Order: sequence, then C-alpha cells, then structure tokens
Amino acid sequence: MLAELIHPLAAMGAQDWPYRPRPSSAGPNQCVRKLVYHAREFPRRQAHGRFLVVLDDSSWHEELTLNWIEQSAFQLRDRQTEVVCGETVFAGESYTILGHIDGIVTDLLGIDRLLEHKAIEHFTFQRYAEGDYPLDYFAQVCLYLRGITQLNPDIDEALLLIKNKNQSAYLEYRLHYDLPNDRLTVCEIVHSNGERSFPKQDVIGLYQQALARFAQIEQHRADQTLPDRPYEDDSNYHCQYCPYSRLCWEGHVAPVLTNTVPLSPDMAALAAEYLDLDARIKPLNKRFDHVKKLLKAGLKTQQASEAEGHGFIVRINQSTQTRHDVKLLPSYVQELAETSLSIEKLSVNRIAQEWGPLQTDPNPQVA
Ligand code: SF4
Repeated sequence: MLAELIHPLAAMGAQDWPYRPRPSSAGPNQCVRKLVYHAREFPRRQAHGRFLVVLDDSSWHEELTLNWIEQSAFQLRDRQTEVVCGETVFAGESYTILGHIDGIVTDLLGIDRLLEHKAIEHFTFQRYAEGDYPLDYFAQVCLYLRGITQLNPDIDEALLLIKNKNQSAYLEYRLHYDLPNDRLTVCEIVHSNGERSFPKQDVIGLYQQALARFAQIEQHRADQTLPDRPYEDDSNYHCQYCPYSRLCWEGHVAPVLTNTVPLSPDMAALAAEYLDLDARIKPLNKRFDHVKKLLKAGLKTQQASEAEGHGFIVRINQSTQTRHDVKLLPSYVQELAETSLSIEKLSVNRIAQEWGPLQTDPNPQVA
C-alpha cells in the first residue's frame, strides 16, 4: 500500500540543480564529460525516485551522526557555515566557489578541526576500508580547508567521517593540509571496529587540479564542445548512474579488434592464473547449485517455507515479479524497443608450447 508510494513521491519533488563549480564536483574521479553536459544544459534523464530517496537518507544519516557527536565530550559548532573556497570562471565571468561545511569539532585538548561527514553504501565503504582512498572527498576537504583558513587560520586538519549506511560502521580519516604546497597528508585512519593505522601518505595538488578541471569545463561550455569519454564503454558504474548515459553513448561503436600480437610474460602469468581460478571455481559453483537444489527440495517435500534447527534457519522467500513477455507485444513495438548491445567475451586456452617440453639434463650430478 505504502511501499509503492514513496519513490514516485520523491520523483515528483525532484529538482534540477543548474551546474555551478562546487566542492562536491571537484574530485579527480568525477567524469568531466558529465559535468560539461550539465554545464551546457543538455537534457538529463529524470532521476529515479529510489535514487532520490537514497540521497535523502544520506543527509539524515549525517544528522544522526552529528547528534551522537553532540552528546560526546567533543564540541561541534559552525554547522553549515558558508565558506569561500576559491575563484574560477563560470559563464564567462569570475565566479566564487562557495561551500557549506558540516561543522568544526573541538577535541578534548582544544584543537579545532573541520568535520566532513559522508554516508555511503556497504560495497564502497568496504573498498575504502580495504585501503582505497576516497579522493573525491579528499578534494572536497581541501576546498573547505582553504575556505576555513579565512575564518580561522589555525585550522589545518580535517576529520573525514564516513558511515556505512548498511551496518553503521564508521571510517575516520585525519587529514592535514599544507595549504601553500597544496599537500594533503593522510595522518591517521581509524575504523569503528578498533583498527587504526598511520599511513602518513601525501596526496599533492588536489586543489589545483580541481581549479584546472573547472576551467576545462568552462572552456568546453564556451566552445560548445565535449571532452572524450574517460571510459571504454558504458558498463562502467559511473555511466550506469549517469543521467546523460543514453545521449553520451548513442551511436558509439566499439573499435573493432583485428590485430594478433605476441603475449607478454605479464599477460601469460595472468592467463595462467585465470585458468587456475576457473578450474577451482567451476566445481564449487556446480556443487553450490546442487546444494541449493537439495535444500529447496528438502523444504518443498514438507510443504515448508522455513526450517530451523542445529543452529541454522533455511527459508524460501516467495514473491512475484512483473516482467514483460515480449512475445505478447505487437511486432512493431518489439522492433521499436530493439537495441543492440556490444558483447565482449574473453576466452583463455592453454596451447602446446611451440618449442616443446623443457629439456632436463640427461646426466644429472648427484651430490
Ligand atoms: S555516460 Fe559515462 S562517460 Fe558519458 S558522461 Fe556519463 S559518466 Fe561520463
């Protein structure tokens, strides 16, 4: 009754934000082509209601986290304070890049730091927890720290706090910013599970690169051009969530691969690993499918949807899905809906080596 109501409601309230150079789009992993589409006001696909609800959830997660911090011995202030992050050119005129910070936290020693909060889904969180750096968030922090120094020149550190929305785990990066040299140092990473590390790793030039990208976007806007696509095809996850993907990849034909080249030693090692993994995964998948069938059959013979015992619960969740049976559609509709997808399939086979097996010494010396 209500489950189907919320996403359409969110979609009805969707707003189109015009392009502006913003700290949130300053990161090196942003697709510049997408930002140029936005700056040039190309029509974008309407965001799905579910996507808008996911974004809305993130701001509520931020609210909840900040409420917890306010109950701690840390002091939190200046929430949503506007800061001036720099100057660029937009629509042919000088443009001031503005940002709104999540707040300033003061620790028990009286040290002030910028606080930036993000709430993200489980898999991206895991990637960061395993060592990938969230460079787009780092760039945003650099812009905010630039802005904050105008209000308080003593603040040169930030806490980037990332929440796993699925599991309420937290990852915290303590970042130091050397403003004159545009050098961000990852001083400390703390996971809410107690893991802690001190990478002391520098990321240099995020701020200057952001300004260069804003200038590049402005140039494309003025020249009415588009930069190249940064991805090989539309299977990249950036493209899958991009509101311009249809427009961007329309008519794109993947280059035809015609050459035969010698395999390098590195590629040969990968090919051997591929075959080894394939040989190990296939029997496991087969057994996995078989075990699944046996469990389902075990429940069904007793007309049971659930069985519990010996520390396990086995359950069959039954539901219905609506699908379109294309064969029932008139043929002209089927033709209209027809689309061609390029498919790439990799195959790796072991071949007999041209130079035959390795020769062993016919007269081995035994020590
Ligand atoms: S579809 Fe992909 S390449 Fe094209 S603008 Fe969007 S993110 Fe960039």
